[in-house]
Amino acid sequence: MEEIVEVLVDILLTGPEYQAFCKCKKCRNDVIALSLNSLSPQYATTQENRQSIYENYNQPNMRNWVNKRIISSLHIVNKYPQHKK
Ligand SMILES: [Zn+2]
Repeated sequence: MEEIVEVLVDILLTGPEYQAFCKCKKCRNDVIALSLNSLSPQYATTQENRQSIYENYNQPNMRNWVNKRIISSLHIVNKYPQHKK
């Protein structure tokens, strides 16, 4: 889950919609942590297991759902950054 969220956060942050958002390491990590808190962890113990989790999250409705969680985290971190401007 963590790996999936990290990749999606990076994709979103490089997109045109989030140009104004702070992209420092602290904010990026805060977004990832906040997103992970609102998502259930998916632990994989085997390569096979891992593959099936990836496939599950690659479906459009799942991706949409995860993206929504990340976008709401982006807005929260942007509004209340944990560092001085
Ligand atoms: Zn920042």
